[in-house]
Amino acid sequence: MNDCVFCKIAQGEIPADKIYEDDNFFAFLDINPVNYGHALVTPKNHYENIYSLPDEILCNIGLLVKKISIAVKQGVNANGINIIMNNDGAAGQIVPHAHFHIIPRFANDGLWHWPGKSYPNKEEPAKIAEKIKGSF
Ligand code: AMP
Ligand code: ZN
Repeated sequence: MNDCVFCKIAQGEIPADKIYEDDNFFAFLDINPVNYGHALVTPKNHYENIYSLPDEILCNIGLLVKKISIAVKQGVNANGINIIMNNDGAAGQIVPHAHFHIIPRFANDGLWHWPGKSYPNKEEPAKIAEKIKGSF
């Protein structure tokens, strides 16, 4: 896609602090890191989100996400790693080129997970589970 920022990084048209590159994938530092060392892992070819990623690319990027997570954790001496993928604007996806966030975490870094809700009654989870099961 011509106006895609990650395609432009892949093609060398926009600079980035790359930490990994092979024929099909690359990883680079997020320009606005949650913590220092926050990296993005992405295919070189343009796929918008997880729904359109071919299975083979998804399998291979999963292996790479593991490898990059270990390198980031060691490289910045982190205590943990969050792996996040935003899909669609409603989920916070800003760049429509599929990517995984590798976020190093530090003990007492002051970040919190999303707040959890409670179901309104004990029947509701089973109803929702049925709807999801019916959607495969
Ligand atoms: P998402 O909300 O999952 O689409 O995340 C997109 C991420 O890309 C954000 O965390 C941005 O800070 C990051 N980002 C956008 N443009 C660049 C860029 N040119 N170089 C590095 N990171 C970028
Ligand atoms: Zn792209």
